[in-house]
Amino acid sequence: MTFELPPLPYDRDALEPHVSRQTLDFHYGKHHQGYLRKLNRLIENDSALAGLSLEDIVRNSAGDLFNNAAQVWNHSFYWQSMSPAGGGVPQGELAQRIVRDFGSFEAMQKRFTAAALGQFGSGWTWLVQKRDGSLDVTATSNAETPLTDAVTPLLTCDVWEHAYYLDRQNDRGAYIQAWWQLVNWEFATANASRSSHRDAAPA
Ligand code: FE
Repeated sequence: MTFELPPLPYDRDALEPHVSRQTLDFHYGKHHQGYLRKLNRLIENDSALAGLSLEDIVRNSAGDLFNNAAQVWNHSFYWQSMSPAGGGVPQGELAQRIVRDFGSFEAMQKRFTAAALGQFGSGWTWLVQKRDGSLDVTATSNAETPLTDAVTPLLTCDVWEHAYYLDRQNDRGAYIQAWWQLVNWEFATANASRSSHRDAAPA
C-alpha cells in the first residue's frame, strides 16, 4: 500500500506574486514529496496499516510515522487553504460566525496573525471549528495537527521557514500578509458546513 501526492490545485506560478513558483517547486515538489516518500517507506510491508486512510494513520500513530503522515496531510490541507482567486473576506454564514466568535473579521485576522508570528520554531496556524460549533484560532508545533483533537480545521497557514524563506528570508510577517491575499474562503466555508453536518448527525 502506498499513498500518492495529491496534485496541486493550481499551477506552480499561480500564487505569484504572493508565493513564488520557486517556493512551490521546493515546498510542494521537495518538502511535501519528501514527507510522502518517507511515509510510504514507513508503511511498506506493515500489514497492520493496510487499508487505513491517511487520516486514520495520523490519528493512531506516533514518532516518525506520525510526523510524516501528519506532514503529508497538513500540506495537502495547506495547498487547498490558498487559491489564486483567494483573499478578501468570507461571505455568508461563515462571515457571520467570525463576527459572532471574534467580534469582527479584523479581530480574527489579528489573532490569527499574532498566533502565526508568535509560533516559536516550526509549526502551523489554524482556523478551527470546535465541537460546540464556535470558531477558534490554534497553533501547532512541528507536525502536530488539529486532526488529532476534537476540532475541525477550516484553514491553515504553514509557518515552517521552508514556506517563506526563499521569498521573504526571515520576514515571517511579510509571508503571513501575503498568505492573507490568497486565503481560500470557499474551502473554509466547505469545511465548516461539512463539519456542521457531521456534528448534527446522530452518533
Ligand atoms: Fe511546509
